[in-house]
Amino acid sequence: MQKGTNAIYKSLIWGQTVSLAVLDTTALVNEAIERHRLTPVAAAALGRTLTATAYLCSWLKTSEASLSVTVKGDGVGGGIYVAGDGALNLRGFVLCPSADLPPRADGKLDVGAFVGHSGVLSVVRDEGEGIPFTGSCELVSGEIAEDFSAYFLTSEQRPTAIALGVLIGTDGRCVASGGVFLQPLPGAGENVLSAVEKEIARHTRVSSEIADMGAEKLLLSIEKCDYFRREIFYRCHCSRERAASAVLSLGRADAMRLAEEEGAVRVHCDYCNTDYSFSAAEIGRLFSEKR
Ligand SMILES: [Zn+2]
Repeated sequence: MQKGTNAIYKSLIWGQTVSLAVLDTTALVNEAIERHRLTPVAAAALGRTLTATAYLCSWLKTSEASLSVTVKGDGVGGGIYVAGDGALNLRGFVLCPSADLPPRADGKLDVGAFVGHSGVLSVVRDEGEGIPFTGSCELVSGEIAEDFSAYFLTSEQRPTAIALGVLIGTDGRCVASGGVFLQPLPGAGENVLSAVEKEIARHTRVSSEIADMGAEKLLLSIEKCDYFRREIFYRCHCSRERAASAVLSLGRADAMRLAEEEGAVRVHCDYCNTDYSFSAAEIGRLFSEKR
């Protein structure tokens, strides 16, 4: 299970002209590393996407509302898939968790090369009000923060300054992960927009800031303000019952044949890397219960 806590701290700052959010997603990234055996660069790419998706989820109107994010670039990572809901339950995976790359010249993990510099970021948001909203934009750099900024601007018409960071230790574990999001409210003036740009430029090493002072103090260092805090969880929606319904959808004949050939039918959940295995005897029971 997830160790430590993850949280989002949110406030309105600067005379209520800007929505500020600071996220600590360290435990979330460690859970992802354990589940998927991620290389450091894969952990950084997935971690940044988990953080940005958690922020997007914090705007969902109900806890049942859900959204999914796909970052599909031409890099060695092969694609990043993250999903979450309004209760801030997050989960995600990368297609090539063992893909590795040397660090960049400045010592940072080369997330841009892992993701790829061209491709598409897409978001599907389901508020439970009929047709889900779908938005997408071209990747800017594959570094994730800039890509989400472009997404907010072009798809949501909400300029949003974003700093994301994932610090991985020499043992492959996540030391700190999180992000800073500054979103001017509609109608904010030029002076507010330039203050936002100036502020985000101060957070080029946001994971070190989270490691040193924590998300709460980081938020208060931007402005002394009242804020609210919500916890974030690594939690998958899969279950043995859902896996069983996937087996049922194969039809009795195909499911039984597979079970006899392979010894069992396995249903795999990519999001949490869990296998659900059903023996021929269990499959027989599933189909007779169904009737
Ligand atoms: Zn799962």
